[in-house]
Amino acid sequence: MELRRRTLTAEILDSRNDFARTERTFEIRWDPLTGHTSRILPSSGLLRSSDFDLERLAEETRTGCPFCAERIEEATPKFLPAEAPEGRIRHGDAVLFPNLLPYSKHSSVSVYSPALHFLPLDAMTRELVSDNLATQVAFARAVLRVDPNSTWVSVNANHMLPSGSSVFHPHLQGSVNPFPTTIQRLLAETPSERFREYVDEEKRQRVRHLGSTGNVDWLAAFAPLGPAELRAFVFGISSPSELDDDLVAELGHGIATALNLYAELGYQSFNMAIYGAPPETRGYPLNLRLLCRSNLEPLYRSDSTWLERVHWEAAIDVSPEELAARAAGRFA
Ligand SMILES: [Zn+2]
Repeated sequence: MELRRRTLTAEILDSRNDFARTERTFEIRWDPLTGHTSRILPSSGLLRSSDFDLERLAEETRTGCPFCAERIEEATPKFLPAEAPEGRIRHGDAVLFPNLLPYSKHSSVSVYSPALHFLPLDAMTRELVSDNLATQVAFARAVLRVDPNSTWVSVNANHMLPSGSSVFHPHLQGSVNPFPTTIQRLLAETPSERFREYVDEEKRQRVRHLGSTGNVDWLAAFAPLGPAELRAFVFGISSPSELDDDLVAELGHGIATALNLYAELGYQSFNMAIYGAPPETRGYPLNLRLLCRSNLEPLYRSDSTWLERVHWEAAIDVSPEELAARAAGRFA
């Protein structure tokens, strides 16, 4: 498989250097699965670090938070008895309940713990992520039992305000729907052998392949949709509903490792999607995408520009290869 990339050169008379004729290069890359294109720009600090006091915002938002232990029982909705007899789904400290805003036929919110209103990325652990993931797996299975036509499952995250999260208290979101999202559809339409070819090619090149935790291969994305994008592939299953306990623990470990890496790189906010196709879709590997968003700060710059929003094409100045070098050795 060719990982297609082209370097383009832009020429200007540079105002920062006496209007001298200056060449600057950037790359266009083609994603080997969906074919979307991505622009890798020279490093220019687009995703800047921030000394914003997250802990203080946590304190300010704690009063009245519907997901905190004092209020979660009264302030969050419950499932119909056929879906979840106890109304909510629990695993370890994690609690899952329906989303008030229906973005899917079946939409859920799951907090890592009602006690963890403040959960920065360096405090994410394998146990916290796996327990939360386990509630999402139980939710997906429960929905598939009562509504077998809703076969498109995904597990997602908006973490902190810049990622789109409207509630400060950290949580995941589940979606189970009769129709795929656009990216779920594009991934499911990809010939299944391409997933293995992509991972094998990255293994061969030994630059962006970060390792395998046993059943899960981790990569720095070749053609990212967002900054510091990581991708993971679980061959042998196609839906989050098919994750067994061992795979939940393994994937939870990988996600926590990735989020700890983001913290080290100075990032606070992320989006995640674990893209399911219908259970037992032959050859389709369950796969995930994790990317950073701008850090919180007053009058912050959004990382989402005309390219991302209206051209569906990311312009990233975090080099995937440098990201891979920083992540080296963590996913083996
Ligand atoms: Zn809270």
